[in-house]
Amino acid sequence: MNVLFNHLPTEELQAIDAAHHLHPFTKGADLNKKGARIITRAKGSTLTDSEGVEILDGMAGLWCVNIGYGRDELAKVAYDQMRELPFYNTFFQTSHPPVIQLAQKLSELLPGDLNHVFFASGGSEANDSNIRIARHYWAIKGKPTKKTIISRHNAYHGSTMGGASLGGMQPMHAQGGLPIADITHIDQPFWWGEGGDMSPEEFGLACARKLEAEIERLGEDNVAAFIAEPVQGAGAVIVPPSTYWPEIQRICDAHEILLIADEVICGFGRTGNWFGSQTYNIRPDVMTIAKGLSSGYAPIGGSAVTDEVAAVLDSDDFNHGYTYSGHPVSCAVALENLRILEEEGIVDTVRAETAPYLESKWRTLADHPLVGEARISGMMAAIEMTPDKSARAQFANPGTVGTIMRDNCFNDALIMRNVRDSMIISPPLVITKAEIDVLMERVVRALDKTLATLKADGMFKPG
Ligand SMILES: *Cc1c(COP(=O)(O)O)cnc(C)c1O
Repeated sequence: MNVLFNHLPTEELQAIDAAHHLHPFTKGADLNKKGARIITRAKGSTLTDSEGVEILDGMAGLWCVNIGYGRDELAKVAYDQMRELPFYNTFFQTSHPPVIQLAQKLSELLPGDLNHVFFASGGSEANDSNIRIARHYWAIKGKPTKKTIISRHNAYHGSTMGGASLGGMQPMHAQGGLPIADITHIDQPFWWGEGGDMSPEEFGLACARKLEAEIERLGEDNVAAFIAEPVQGAGAVIVPPSTYWPEIQRICDAHEILLIADEVICGFGRTGNWFGSQTYNIRPDVMTIAKGLSSGYAPIGGSAVTDEVAAVLDSDDFNHGYTYSGHPVSCAVALENLRILEEEGIVDTVRAETAPYLESKWRTLADHPLVGEARISGMMAAIEMTPDKSARAQFANPGTVGTIMRDNCFNDALIMRNVRDSMIISPPLVITKAEIDVLMERVVRALDKTLATLKADGMFKPG
């Protein structure tokens, strides 16, 4: 059977999926009853399901398919690399051309003197490496007590024990005894939800200063690093107030701690620059990369570090690594992805044309009766659904309205994700203006339909 083009009928696939496949972040019993939606192929920004329905992918898969689906060039380099050298390790005094070339290419693209990369298979693994890197760095420097890593509530840093501990997702911490030791969390800069009476600028400063208070509470001698996403992605595209990052940078400079920017989503063009650190003027010592690095065509992630951090690490054995650190096929695919991003000017087009176009339309959603805030950074955006705009109120039973809205989108051929009652998008960076028009039409139609349902059920009571 050719699994690519001659798959089983949908119902059969769903039944086998239910019988044998455990899904991530899913209540299996519920999904198994209704059956998974089965995606069979994709091109550009459009998915096709097993029934032949075409769906606009407002999420670029999972924030990763930056160059869009269906680029044969990446398939070709994967094929060629598999024939030339499908695997070799980098543990025992060996290396290979694709990992060497990718490390060099990244050192050109990365800001500042982030010139060295430790590879992993994804973002979670890379953040696990970052915990090891930060603690080992301070131990080598004779400061082994500097172990604690400060993160933020509602952050997402992956799903391994280390990644989920760094993350601030309560439902993840609630399972399996997380977080692990020596990781603490401060508040996120989520003005719409938590800013109270403060202006966004006041709130941004107040949130940043919680980092300084936390460093003082723990004692600087016990803190290894602060980790944060330039814009929180999975937390619901939390775009920080303008005052936030300058103050965070000042605090990290004033205290002896490493700044880790988790750019797994923001990197490779998402915010309109190559890296979110450029958009928000952040100077990280360590940067997590994954997702857009290969546009999701092959699993790869990494930890980029500065010359100074690399020099310290290089002075001792590092008892850490993954079988697939610097996997040759993933590296070759990532290199080809970077070539396309660069040569086709995709990041420039996002910054100069498509992101401003999306922004001009997205902002108008704030005029919809159901929408309290419409926020955006480059090609990632969110809306807050609210029963009362002026009070910035939240619906009772968070997630109920979000799920109704998500299903309305899904049924109208648009993938848009809900986080509680926020709706988020992060489309492929190659989305065209015409496709943005289609996306906006579908979002508005789904909002209207959701509002009608809420009114009929008495759930919408503007104050
Ligand atoms: C997706 C994500 C991760 C985890 O990456 P995986 O490849 O799923 O392990 C880490 N950090 C951020 C910010 C992410 O969005």
